[in-house]
Order: sequence, then C-alpha cells, then structure tokens
Amino acid sequence: MPDNSAFQEFYLREIGVQTPLALHKASGSNTVKETHAPSDKKTVMASSEAVVSVPSVNQSSFEDHSLQELAMQASSCSACTLSEERHTVVFGVGNPKADIVFIGEAPGHEEDLKGEPFVGRAGKLLDRMLAALGMDRSQVYIMNTVKCRPPNNRDPKPEEVQACGKWFDAQLRALSPKLICLLGRVAAQTVLETDASLSTMRGKWHEYHGIPLRVIYHPAYLLRSPQQKRHAWSDLCELQKRYQLLLD
Ligand code: URA
Repeated sequence: MPDNSAFQEFYLREIGVQTPLALHKASGSNTVKETHAPSDKKTVMASSEAVVSVPSVNQSSFEDHSLQELAMQASSCSACTLSEERHTVVFGVGNPKADIVFIGEAPGHEEDLKGEPFVGRAGKLLDRMLAALGMDRSQVYIMNTVKCRPPNNRDPKPEEVQACGKWFDAQLRALSPKLICLLGRVAAQTVLETDASLSTMRGKWHEYHGIPLRVIYHPAYLLRSPQQKRHAWSDLCELQKRYQLLLD
C-alpha cells in the first residue's frame, strides 16, 4: 500500500480535494516536491487517542454459520415489514477474509435492484475512496446494518434494526474483521448504540467487541457536502495507518 506524498496527493485528487501539489501540477509547475496534510489532521490525530466501547453483541443461533450459509438464510427473511417491499436482500459483498469491513446504513433503490451494497453514486465515491487506500472491493467487505431497502430511503426504524440484528451480528462474527469503518451517522448510531452526532463520533477510535472502529462521513453526504471531504481524508488516513500496522 502506498505511504508517501504521492499517495496523499492521489487520494486527495480522488476525493476531489485540490492540494497545493495538484494545483501546482495543473498550472504546469514542477517545483513543488511535497504536499502536506490539511491543517485539521493534527487535531484529528490528537483526538484519536479516545476509545469508546460499546455494549455486548447479541448471542444468536447463527454464530457458527459461514457467510454463504447466512446469506442464503437471510435471502428469505421476513422478520420485519421491509421484506414486503424489497426486491432483494442485500447481504454484503467482498472478501469474506477481509481485514477491513465497511458498514453503511441500508440499501437504496439501485442496491435493492442489484442485490449489492453501494452500487449507486455514493458507491462510486466509496470505490474511489477505496482506490485511494490502494484497495478495491475484492480486498474489503462491504455491508449494511439493515439488509432490506427502507421505502423512499428513509432511515431504518428501531424495530427494523433490531429484527436485522441477528444477521448483522452473525455476519460480523463470521467475518471477524481486524478493523471496522462505519459509513455515516445512521450506521454509527446503530452500531455504537448512541444518538451522538457524526461530528462527535468521527476523528477518534472506537472499539466494537475489541475491534478498532472508525466512523467516517457517508459517501452520499460527501457528494452533497464536498467541503467535508478533507475530514473524510483525515479519517481514511488514520484507517490506513492502522491497517498498515496490522501488516507490519
Ligand atoms: N447507502 C448505504 O448506506 N448503503 C448502501 O448500500 C447504499 C447506499
């Protein structure tokens, strides 16, 4: 995985942040040798010491099943009313042995039709964010807290989250990742069981049953609020550093 100024610049360009280096290149100059992190990086790193723990996972009868078996079982789930309008149960995608798992909120329209998480515009941005980490979907695992599309893309209701919890718990247990990245407020509030705002949850390390966990802005939010992309960059850098430590 790249770990130098070229990587940083590549990443920033990927998520749409203009760096001094990128701007310099665009203007045809070749005198700048290095680029630097945005000034908020230090703040984020300083606050990254904090660790927040979460309540214990539900024990369910699904714990010993493989991901494939779980996906099969989930495909006919009717534990909540979301099953009435869904086209597909969107279980998850990627490498079952991945070290990093990315978790979003719930499938949208395109995901519901395709049966795969993050395939719409937000998904394309997620792919570019992964590329900036030197990864693609075959190296990570991507899933949602809720497996069926809520009508009109509303937030999942507490009873839907609870009904889907057995799949979520079993899926994470089968995956046993080394790092978790929560995408957006709804996923973060669900998994961390809090009503804290995203801005207070991002920028620090949390822990989910001993697994280091980072909260970042949802790619759909980043599409609407591109000025937050540099915060997402800081958070992804922290994720990448931690991932690098796992490999060393
Ligand atoms: N947003 C999500 O949170 N999940 C998806 O799968 C797609 C969009």
